Amino acid sequence: MSTSPADSVSIDDEKDATGPSFADLGIDDRVLRAIADVGYESPSPIQAATIPPLIAGSDVVGLAQTGTGKTAAFAIPVLMGLEVSGKSPRALVLAPTRELAIQVAEAFERYSTHMPELHVLPIYGGQNYAVQLSGLRRGAQVVVGTPGRVIDHLERGTLDLTQLQYLVLDEADEMLKMGFQDDVERILRDTPDTKQVALFSATMPSAIRKISKQYLKNPVEITVKTKTSTNINITQRYVQVSYQRKLDALTRILEVESFEAIIIFVRTKQATEELAEKLRARGYSAAAINGDIVQAQRERTIGQLKSGALDILVATDVAARGLDVERISHVVNYDIPHDTESYVHRIGRTGRAGRSGEALLFVAPRERRLLDAIERATRQPLTEMQLPSVDDVNAQRVAKFGDNITENLSAANLGLFRKLIEDYEREHNIPLVDIAAALAIGSYDGDKFFMEPDPEPVERPRREKGERGRNTFEGDRPRREGPSTHRATGENMATYRIAVGKRHKVAPGAIVGAIANEGGLRRSDFGHISIRPDHSLVELPADLSSETLDALRRTRISGQLIQLQLDSGPPGMRPMNRGPRRDTRDGKPRYERRQPRA
Ligand code: AMP
Repeated sequence: MSTSPADSVSIDDEKDATGPSFADLGIDDRVLRAIADVGYESPSPIQAATIPPLIAGSDVVGLAQTGTGKTAAFAIPVLMGLEVSGKSPRALVLAPTRELAIQVAEAFERYSTHMPELHVLPIYGGQNYAVQLSGLRRGAQVVVGTPGRVIDHLERGTLDLTQLQYLVLDEADEMLKMGFQDDVERILRDTPDTKQVALFSATMPSAIRKISKQYLKNPVEITVKTKTSTNINITQRYVQVSYQRKLDALTRILEVESFEAIIIFVRTKQATEELAEKLRARGYSAAAINGDIVQAQRERTIGQLKSGALDILVATDVAARGLDVERISHVVNYDIPHDTESYVHRIGRTGRAGRSGEALLFVAPRERRLLDAIERATRQPLTEMQLPSVDDVNAQRVAKFGDNITENLSAANLGLFRKLIEDYEREHNIPLVDIAAALAIGSYDGDKFFMEPDPEPVERPRREKGERGRNTFEGDRPRREGPSTHRATGENMATYRIAVGKRHKVAPGAIVGAIANEGGLRRSDFGHISIRPDHSLVELPADLSSETLDALRRTRISGQLIQLQLDSGPPGMRPMNRGPRRDTRDGKPRYERRQPRA
């Protein structure tokens, strides 16, 4: 961290293992305990930079997006410094929307659980005045409001700001965009000169600069400088999903995506444990690592991940620092990271040792701006991914069922069971197919074999102001072909067949990596990739030169010659999209699986 003479702080992009802890920031015990209850392990960059100057009494201007942890960055020092005796507001937070006001009020509640005498009140347009009036009469030391409604109360004489110690402007640029500039300036003017002001904004237009110059006293300016280089061998996708649907979304992805090992990032220690537990309950070999886990246990868990005894690791940023496991084919950002730098560190856990990797980012509707920031900072667009539908998941289950049979047909002790079943058939005179179905029931729960279509009504995705429409995964609905960085399917493209598939544990990233390297192709040369049980189909330019074709025939993935050749699917059908068919190339019936959408 460096402080220039102009009181401006920028946070360096090297966030190594030795960042400050919350205690290092000088936070008092009551608030520290609340933070521990919530499960935050270490301060986010904006928190580390903002909390100390706010505790020291300085005004602060923070350039920060939603999702960076800025709420705690101002709530923590405010809670530490405000006078809780008395009923009149000591802290006022202005927020552009009612949703944000409620959210900020809830955050204050969370961080003040060990301050029972403290009351927090959200006031916003659209809510009954009577509720707000009785809240104000009862007394609230922290008021979080939208500017218009705060002005209403000031004019009615129902809000007394004469005792104000702290004024926070949250998402100041949004407030100005929404036409609240006069209201905001009026509140800045009509509150005590002695108050401390914190202004947070995602951008710094000249109007905000002006406000900062006019109303703040020598503010410390805080900007998070971001590390911007992401590894080019990592394919980055994002999926819009509401908070409530994340687990469902994750399990669908795990069902259809072909992966070797995955690391899933969440924000808190509790979340690592909870998610790992839920994944184990769904049959995955998953474990949690977080800052509370002792070193020996951490090493054991990582050893298991390396050896293949474990496939999924659920981790916090701190716990996953420096993790270097070649098997990690996917990084899932289950909770969006606070800053682009963390994003870059996280996705760098895959694509190790020259391999390629897949990075998935879950984006809740409110977090769109953080996604934009990630794309801007890394200068790489993320491809939107449509979540696998119930049909995709079920097709995959059928495919795996078939795979299982095919695999077991080559088992060494088939003879023993053949004899037992022949005896049973003779004794009971039951058709063989019924006996086979009865055995399958023993290994699968017939009632739950297929995923049920989602019964919930389809919510409309919320759109943020001025944002182009995008699909949010809120339930099962017809799929839209998402905007894609791929070349348009079919446009001078052809489907090639390669001799590696699910059986060889290949991930799409490995296929792209190997073919791109050996064939001198670019990422944009790839269309759909469909990984089938024993082979894969890859869309590539139709006009590959004979040298490239030669090189690709000799390329190996997972030690296997890929023998790339044009795929000769049935005429008139695109091989990628046909439903289950019987493939008798090797004389055995095979199910084809529907491809996970790449
Ligand atoms: P905000 O940017 O304030 O909207 O915060 C975004 C999310 O980050 C919220 O869900 C917070 O609960 C969470 N959060 C804030 N600070 C931390 C932290 N230090 N560690 C983990 N999560 C945090």
